[in-house]
Amino acid sequence: MCEAEQHNHQSPSRRGILRWGAAALPAAAGVTALAWPTQANGTASAAAGSGAYYKAGRGDTLRGIAGRFLGSEQRWTELYRLNRQVLDKSGEPRPGQRLELPESPDGATTRNFAPLPATAKPLSVPPEGYRLDRIGDAFYAVTAGGTQAAFLVTSAGVVVIDAPPSLAEALPAAIRRVTSRKVTHLVYSHDHADHTANASAFGDVIRIAHTATAERIKANQDPGRPMPTVTFDDRYRLDLGDQQLLLSYPGANHEAGNILIHAPRQRAAMMVDLVMPGWAPFRAWGTADSVPGVLRAHDELARMDLDTYVGGHVHRLGTMEDIKVSREFVRDLWEATGKAIAATDMAPYFGKVEPGNNWAGFDLYLQAVADKVEPVIYRKWLGRLGAVDVFTRENALTVALSQIVDAPRDL
Ligand SMILES: [Zn+2]
Repeated sequence: MCEAEQHNHQSPSRRGILRWGAAALPAAAGVTALAWPTQANGTASAAAGSGAYYKAGRGDTLRGIAGRFLGSEQRWTELYRLNRQVLDKSGEPRPGQRLELPESPDGATTRNFAPLPATAKPLSVPPEGYRLDRIGDAFYAVTAGGTQAAFLVTSAGVVVIDAPPSLAEALPAAIRRVTSRKVTHLVYSHDHADHTANASAFGDVIRIAHTATAERIKANQDPGRPMPTVTFDDRYRLDLGDQQLLLSYPGANHEAGNILIHAPRQRAAMMVDLVMPGWAPFRAWGTADSVPGVLRAHDELARMDLDTYVGGHVHRLGTMEDIKVSREFVRDLWEATGKAIAATDMAPYFGKVEPGNNWAGFDLYLQAVADKVEPVIYRKWLGRLGAVDVFTRENALTVALSQIVDAPRDL
């Protein structure tokens, strides 16, 4: 370890070399500006190289190299993407190996993110400014700007599911395009404002929510989210005209009160903020109330017989395959975190900080756990889901804490 550090500390002004451009990188710092054969199989995940190289020393890790030369350890993922063809299975460089350094136009700190795989890329938006997808005979999803709501047209009126402020114009316009019937019911998928804060615009309708969502709405006192008129705990069957929705609650998940909305006739289900079709999860699953509940809800969805999934975000609808892939991802993250916790002794980290500063000791420990989880997930999932390199680390921290304090025995 010492040797490697010596090797890499030859330049007293490492920060100084980060005015980018290969010529500005002194060879003394282990960085050379040699040409490297262009990779024959350039893939969508190839990062832009700078043409500058770093010769790895003994004990070097991608994270350490990124910390020294790219302004942030988090940028190790760029080194990995750029050099994955030459790294062995361990994913770490061998002594003497030349690693291409990524472009860093502003001289450091800005992360270059992996390109989105095709399944995560935005779809074209029609001139109306939103996408309207018909699901089966009478279920519709409206998507704009990465947010989604849905409605069911029945012979006795329209049931709206969610009322996102960002769809304040698109959702009523989409309903008018399809039917002249009035909105008679509104289902709150959960309480979060980005999905529901325009509910008041639908006026005096029957509003259905889980009991826990009703409690949140009451506490948050937002005039845009009027109180539900019907609440339920486990299940609720809405029969309206010729159509049916089955609402159920698999327990606290993304949020306490976040329900599963099943349209059996259309072989579709909507569960908001759980599966993000084509994408890795958002940061901390968008403030998930229960990480174990997120896994259990995935299990519940995976058991269903569905063709279409409506997730409330991203650019498109999902399929059963999207549900299964998302479940595999969250399982992988859960299991990799469990292994990292088992392999990381907490005590030494508390020895590195002022006695009694438990926050600091715990942070060092959690970061060490995340250091182990992130590469495992990244290596398996890069290119399979969008934005794996964005929130995986923070999600590993969230999962680690959940494993310690929720300590579920069923997962
Ligand atoms: Zn939410």
